[in-house]
Amino acid sequence: MPSEFDLIRRHFDRAATHCDLAVGDDAALMRPSPGMQLAVSTDMLVAGTHFFADADPALLGWKTLAVNVSDIAAMGALPRWALLAIALPAADEAWIAAFAGGLFDCARAYAVDLVGGDTTRGPLNMTVTIIGEVPAGQAITRDGGRAGDDLWVSGQPGQAALGLAALQGEASLNDEGRRRCLDALHRPQPRVALGLALRGVASAMLDVSDGLLGDLGHILERSHVGAIVDIAALPLAPLLATGAAATTARRCLLSGGDDYELLFSAPPARREVIQEMARRLALPLHRIGSLTGDTGVLLLRESDGTLHPGAAAGYDHFG
Ligand code: ADP
Ligand code: MG
Repeated sequence: MPSEFDLIRRHFDRAATHCDLAVGDDAALMRPSPGMQLAVSTDMLVAGTHFFADADPALLGWKTLAVNVSDIAAMGALPRWALLAIALPAADEAWIAAFAGGLFDCARAYAVDLVGGDTTRGPLNMTVTIIGEVPAGQAITRDGGRAGDDLWVSGQPGQAALGLAALQGEASLNDEGRRRCLDALHRPQPRVALGLALRGVASAMLDVSDGLLGDLGHILERSHVGAIVDIAALPLAPLLATGAAATTARRCLLSGGDDYELLFSAPPARREVIQEMARRLALPLHRIGSLTGDTGVLLLRESDGTLHPGAAAGYDHFG
């Protein structure tokens, strides 16, 4: 039976590239760059709540770090360091090696150093704490949205939820669609480059983890504004015309979680800059509506032009 220390040394201790002291001592030592603020966030993934206990460990490793990187991206910050607290029901080394492999794939892809953590026996769950840097005062928060701003979203929100619906037999997709949706569900690509590019451009921003309308509700609340969302402008709107599957598609597009795309507002004067950004980053950015002065009111504009209240229901663990 490997000891806790064997497990840490074998699986979680890798050379760090931008930290003075990483795994192995009582605490890690990092040097924030001059003039930077630290952006710090933590996210927990619990078996049975956020993933199936028999999920592919490599994909789980990727996602555990990726969802945290996404929170840093959503501030317009650069992710730098992470800590991993993990509870494992048993010392299953093949599982741990695969999990660590996926986690370090993500760490390499986003240049994040794993600098420490904690390893204990217990019901399977992983908590990452991530630290990023942003020039002081330039972080993009949820509270800067103004009436009249455009509302934008990156990528194809709804794909991850469609992938989950496909796994559960609730959505039928063609092979290519299924592959893309499962990829979105299992290997989210946090939009770090976009977040950085939007500094000084976006007025408010967050990442879509709990569903488009639910997360938009957080911007409305913090910015004291309302919003109109154009259903026809949603990137996956064509799926809403597909007969029997339309109800599932609508739920996935409007309230499906796990996308980790960026939802942001920006003044209309910034449209060209944002479209140019989309070309440069080769990442589709969709203008899906606008912010209004009607504090807290979220309206949906259907493709026939009718307006009706949209419930801002996202995923709520206690709801
Ligand atoms: P302590 O007894 O001081 O809490 P630990 O024995 O828990 O220290 O951890 C030893 C070292 O290994 C520390 O540097 C800690 O940050 C690191 N560590 C423990 N678990 C992990 C993990 N899952 N991933 C990365 N580093 C870890
Ligand atoms: Mg410890």
